[in-house]
Amino acid sequence: MIREYKHEPFTDFSVKENKKAFEEALDLVNSQLGKEYPLVIGGERITTDEKIVSINPANKEEVIGTVSKANKDLAEKAMQTAVSTFETWKKWSPESRASILYRAAAILRRRKHEFSAYLVKEGGKPWKEADADTAEAIDFLEFYARQMELLKNGVPVKSREGEINQFNYIPLGVGIVISPFNFPLAIMAGTTVAAIVGGNTVLLKPANNTPVVAAKFAEVMEQAGLPEGVLNFIPGSGAEVGDYLVDHPKTRFVSFTGSREVGCRIYERAAKVQPGQIWLKRVIAEMGGKDTMVIDNNVDTDMAASAIVFSAFGFSGQKCSAGSRAVVHQDVYDEVLEKAVALTKSLRVGNPEDLGNYMGPVIDQAAFNKIMSYIEIAKTEGKVVAGGEGDDSKGFFIQPTIVADVDEKARVMQEEIFGPVVAFCKARDFDHMMEIANNTEYGLTGALVTNNREHIDRAKEEFHVGNLYFNRGCTGAIVGYQPFGGFNMSGTDSKAGGPDYLLLHMQAKTTSELL
Ligand code: NAP
Repeated sequence: MIREYKHEPFTDFSVKENKKAFEEALDLVNSQLGKEYPLVIGGERITTDEKIVSINPANKEEVIGTVSKANKDLAEKAMQTAVSTFETWKKWSPESRASILYRAAAILRRRKHEFSAYLVKEGGKPWKEADADTAEAIDFLEFYARQMELLKNGVPVKSREGEINQFNYIPLGVGIVISPFNFPLAIMAGTTVAAIVGGNTVLLKPANNTPVVAAKFAEVMEQAGLPEGVLNFIPGSGAEVGDYLVDHPKTRFVSFTGSREVGCRIYERAAKVQPGQIWLKRVIAEMGGKDTMVIDNNVDTDMAASAIVFSAFGFSGQKCSAGSRAVVHQDVYDEVLEKAVALTKSLRVGNPEDLGNYMGPVIDQAAFNKIMSYIEIAKTEGKVVAGGEGDDSKGFFIQPTIVADVDEKARVMQEEIFGPVVAFCKARDFDHMMEIANNTEYGLTGALVTNNREHIDRAKEEFHVGNLYFNRGCTGAIVGYQPFGGFNMSGTDSKAGGPDYLLLHMQAKTTSELL
């Protein structure tokens, strides 16, 4: 009998034993730095001459590991393996497929701090963010396994006298899973296992910045008993291997999480039917956000300021759900801004290995340069009242930055910066707040802080985002509790960690037998 699903608790690092255990995990990871990781295709470990060198974004000199890099030939080999393995994997019972996910969750739980420590080193995540990332990966495994068990007998349909009708879900085929750097474990693992548990075989291409944690996860799946060839691990260049596989006629679906630019490119390329292709490819694309914290008048301004600050600067703003715009009622604007600035100035930025640092680095030089150029734009569009500085001498550190008095149509109010920058914009009244909240091309998350019940009801109708929160921040969705995914240019309206997510990786078959 399977336990009821409950999300994995976060670790309390104020407990001495927990802190010590995490420090030991960091020591373990530090002792393993620089290791080499092969590709894995059909269980075969393949080492290539060309490598991805994964570095610590808090310390550019430090190599986390080197990972072999797939080219088109190896991508083709992986595709052929996945195509042939699909013929056997699809016949596994849903319960047996699910049991591999339960086992992988148990292994990950036992090695929780080790994985989180890798996220600190490779992803630049502060302890708490790393711990939440690992917990979410465990949640995806536990949740999708249960979802598969719920779906195993399909959905009942009516039968007339003398016939038996059935409606069952069957797998699609080979899926290409392409994951981003910002949840290097949770999103990479979640998108991979959702495809696998549905009976599909997978080619996993993780983000170039975070391939080591993905390699370690692929090992866990193997230990959990996943047959060879179901999960093929093929890190490589998005432009080279990504395009090749998206275009491939044997690709049945693509599960992508990342930027709008790449997501739109995949969507467009996947739509073209290639010679020899006998289906229309399905694309699940979870893309960017420009998420808004809306602050009404007559609220607790301390709470509002803290919700804005922690939504904006958690993991240096590198979350698709990050609150990168604060739309504040004119009655409380000055007070909320002042409190947000004071709180922001109290946040410590530095090496994420130190538990005392609230924010670590951004992921790489390109991200650093992009964010700093947006801070220059911000200076022309408003007043930088906190932060504004960056230092890339050792790692890629940027101070949490608040830009005040920004016009609702300004670039920093419209474009995804994906860094620790939040723009403040003053609103006249509730109508104006809703108008600004909906004025981007995205629609991922948003939050309204208010004491007005009528405004909560109106926001439920009018605030067009996939994840809408009240009287809290706009980040931190929990698998199975707050299924996650956005509208408009934030993606294909899918909901990771939700009751209908697995269905995106399956197709329904109707059978009807005359008695
Ligand atoms: P990204 O640059 O779009 O990269 C995502 C993945 O796509 C990487 O594995 C990348 O490989 C690959 N890629 C690049 N070019 C490709 C191509 N031509 N064909 C196929 N794949 C290709 O995004 P990121 O910087 O890693 O992540 C940040 C973005 O993800 C933000 O926009 C954020 O909002 C979004 N995000 C959305 C969600 C959501 O649920 N909606 C969740 C997390 C993140 P390389 O690493 O080799 O370039």
